[in-house]
Amino acid sequence: MSDIQDELITESLSTSQIKRAAQHLRYFLMWVFVASLFNIVMYHLFYDYSSNHYNIWMFFNMVIVVISCILTRKFIYSKKITPLNLDAWCQLLCLTIGSSIGIGVLIINHYLMVENSEITGIHVLLSSLMTSSIYIIGIVYLTQRLRYFIYMFIPSILPVILAKIIFASNVPHVYNYLFYVWFTIVFISAILTHRIHRRLNLLNIHNQFYLRQSKIHLDESSLLQQQLEQEIDKCKGIENDLQMHNQLLEQKVKERTYHINQINDRLENHQANLDFAHETAGISSWLWNIEKRTVELSSKKTEVRVIQYDNNLEQINLLIHPEDKPEYNKLMRRHLRGFSERFEATYRILKNNQWCWIEDIGKVIARDPITHKPLRMVGIHRDIEQEIKDQEQLKLAANVFNQVEQGVFVLDNNLCFIEVNPFFSKLVDIPNEQILGKHLFDLTSNTIFEISNKHAEISQQVILHGEYDAEVQEQFISGKHLTLWLHINAVRDDNSKIINYIGVITDLTERIKHEQRLAYLENYNLLTDLPNRVYFNLHLHQLLVSKSGPINHFAIIRINIDRFRNFNEFLNNQAGDELLKQFSKRLKQTSFDALLIAYLNNDDFALIYNLGSQHNFIGQKAEELMSVLQKPFNIFGQEHTISISMGIALFPEHGRQISSLNNHAEIALVEAKKLGGNTIYYYDNKSNSIFENDIHLERDLRQAIKNDDLEVYYQPKISARDMSVHGFEALIRWSHPDYGVIQPDAFLPIAEESSLISEIGQYVMLKACKQIHEWQQLGFQDIRISVNVVAQQIHRGQLMDDINLALSTYDVAPQSIELELTESSLVNKSEEVIELLNKIKERGIEIALDDFGTGYSSLAYLTDYPINTLKIDKSFISKIGKSKDEAIVNAIIAMGKALGLSLVAEGVETFEQIEYLQQRGCDFFQGYYFSKPLNSTQSTEFLNQKVMQ
Ligand code: C2E
Ligand code: CA
Ligand code: CA
Repeated sequence: MSDIQDELITESLSTSQIKRAAQHLRYFLMWVFVASLFNIVMYHLFYDYSSNHYNIWMFFNMVIVVISCILTRKFIYSKKITPLNLDAWCQLLCLTIGSSIGIGVLIINHYLMVENSEITGIHVLLSSLMTSSIYIIGIVYLTQRLRYFIYMFIPSILPVILAKIIFASNVPHVYNYLFYVWFTIVFISAILTHRIHRRLNLLNIHNQFYLRQSKIHLDESSLLQQQLEQEIDKCKGIENDLQMHNQLLEQKVKERTYHINQINDRLENHQANLDFAHETAGISSWLWNIEKRTVELSSKKTEVRVIQYDNNLEQINLLIHPEDKPEYNKLMRRHLRGFSERFEATYRILKNNQWCWIEDIGKVIARDPITHKPLRMVGIHRDIEQEIKDQEQLKLAANVFNQVEQGVFVLDNNLCFIEVNPFFSKLVDIPNEQILGKHLFDLTSNTIFEISNKHAEISQQVILHGEYDAEVQEQFISGKHLTLWLHINAVRDDNSKIINYIGVITDLTERIKHEQRLAYLENYNLLTDLPNRVYFNLHLHQLLVSKSGPINHFAIIRINIDRFRNFNEFLNNQAGDELLKQFSKRLKQTSFDALLIAYLNNDDFALIYNLGSQHNFIGQKAEELMSVLQKPFNIFGQEHTISISMGIALFPEHGRQISSLNNHAEIALVEAKKLGGNTIYYYDNKSNSIFENDIHLERDLRQAIKNDDLEVYYQPKISARDMSVHGFEALIRWSHPDYGVIQPDAFLPIAEESSLISEIGQYVMLKACKQIHEWQQLGFQDIRISVNVVAQQIHRGQLMDDINLALSTYDVAPQSIELELTESSLVNKSEEVIELLNKIKERGIEIALDDFGTGYSSLAYLTDYPINTLKIDKSFISKIGKSKDEAIVNAIIAMGKALGLSLVAEGVETFEQIEYLQQRGCDFFQGYYFSKPLNSTQSTEFLNQKVMQ
């Protein structure tokens, strides 16, 4: 135990000793009282003698004892008295009582014995016993505190110890010694008892201390237990709460899981939708990690391509078209610097080695918080190649709609105007706003019964058959009176329900005038007002090819004014022109019965006469002309006489083809001149002709076909878009053993007379298909060959079989073949021709109209026949650069485009022509600029070279 505790214990020990001793002191006092009383009683019982000393002592002794007893009791229960004072009181009391007892012993043993002789030793002994009993009681009650006992004991024994010395008592020594021993024993007993008391007290105090401690511990532990119980209760509460929360949580988790699953399902569906949308819309996403220098491109769900690029972005830059790069960089920089909300650009990128338009939209999604530099950017891009193409197509269509020189209109299914092109309003002279919403025939006057009847008929036909195509004459509400070609066609939806009508009106008056003017300019000479050489040849060609007509015998007369150059030089050009005018006039008057009178050039004229069966008619006619034309001409008031030379060639005697007939007539004229002029000369068969007569030619040609002397040459057609080879035209050549290579113009007209033309046609078709097959085997898949077909082949009715045979022999698709027809083969618009051409079209073979512009150039051919392509004749192409002729080329291209036909320019020889045609939208080129017709080997080489480029 600690020192403090010891101190406390010691203090509490002395306090408890004092208290207990004080209480015991009372019992001790009582015993002293009882012993004193007993002594008195004994004394008075046995003795009659009354001693004053004794009585006084006894009295005082009794009084002291009683007072002490009372006071002690009082002090014990007084709260005011401190343990120290109580201790002092007890000490004083013990000392007093001891002194009183000592006095009593002295009185009894000394005085009483002396005064009263009766007093016996027994009495003394009794007194001693009484005194000793007091000591014993003293040991019992006073040894709590040893000093109380000593204060009582020492004064009380003093008389006995001092008696020998003071009183020289006669008490035997033995007694004295006995007393000493007795006192010593009493004293030792007192000490021992005191020790026992002390130890017991100590133990008691310890026990109490421990008791208190354990009580405290008990209290503490019960407090702890209470606290523990409270804690346990709390824990239980918390546990219950926890369980409840747990259940709630589980419930929540289940709900959340269910929701998350639902969201997940929805997300998956959205993702699938998004992927599908991306795929169908051609959208792919990208993520640009600027920090890591990577670009992630994901096109489909699983396909992610990561491009790691270096410092100067070269890998990325290479993907962007150089022309689009500056704009791209500008927009990207703007966005990266935060000047734009998002990055949006349309540009071309390299995809599978091809530039392809895309629309790119992106946004920076993370920036450095301090420097604000962009860190990451996301975006999507969309393939808009098709859109751009469609837009261009739409633009083109819109351009055609707006610029075509024909009135185009769109009607709803009630025949009310929805849309008209500018030319339409211009033509009918009614503003656009007054047209839209009105019925088709609300724009025209319907006052006359016949007219409104006709309109009702047209409306009915349009509604019933979905088509109307005829010439109409209309008086418009603007007052304009027009002759129109009206063409209306229904537009149907997927269920064949009519949704709109599209119509075209063509101002026939204007066009006829225009055509007439064009034809005139093309075919007539202004000075003489006579057809020119082109017209002459054309007419001659028609005479030669028309088998149906009655003209199977005619003559060509070539007339030349003798020494016209001299005349011109002698007078002047004006006089020369005047002479030509008058000469033509007289010629026309005299030759009114000629099939054709033409002015070829300078002073050259030509006539064609139908001879019928009268063979000498031409001789008379020539003589007549000679005499009429030799009569003087009055030129600016002066008379002039001239002479003429004539050369005559006859059909079919002198040739069956234009060139040969022309040649022979020319030779005859030269012969006439040689004879000094003023002469009529007939071509002499025996002079110089490759083919002496047609019978030999026919025989030779047959032989040539057999010997395989005919060869097909191929002339490439080049695509204007990318200068690639689109196809070839097959052109026949005859390698004659004597005359070398003969051009087709020299032998085809004769072949057309007989079945030979069909044989040649079949030969070319077979060769062309064989060639296609060979090229396909070499890997040239989409090369198409155009084969020329003449009217005779169509009429002979063998064409379709020839085509089918060739296609099946070489296993070639019909799409690889194209037929080229001239307008002259369509002149006789017979039902069979239309039927045959439709069959060809159904078979998948395309048809081109050859030499367009030289014949009638009629729009009817283009609309009535299933034509896909127009070939602009080389005579127009060669004149590009001359404004008047350019107008014709422009008109042909615009018309072709408006009708949705593709356009081929033939006879292209210069770069200027290409440039010009390209600007006007011509689709294909053919001509010496690219290549002359090549034989099979050369054309394969040509293809190979083109691929290498
Ligand atoms: P075409 O159909 O008009 O053929 C085009 C003619 O123009 C070819 O003459 C060709 O060599 C020539 N040409 C091509 N490019 C140029 C150029 O840049 N400048 C010039 N001045 N001429 C060029 P070719 O081969 O003499 O053929 C003449 C005509 O013979 C053809 O005229 C065609 O009508 C006919 N023809 C040729 N082969 C056949 C054939 O196999 N069958 C039939 N029925 N007719 C054929
Ligand atoms: Ca041709
Ligand atoms: Ca041609």
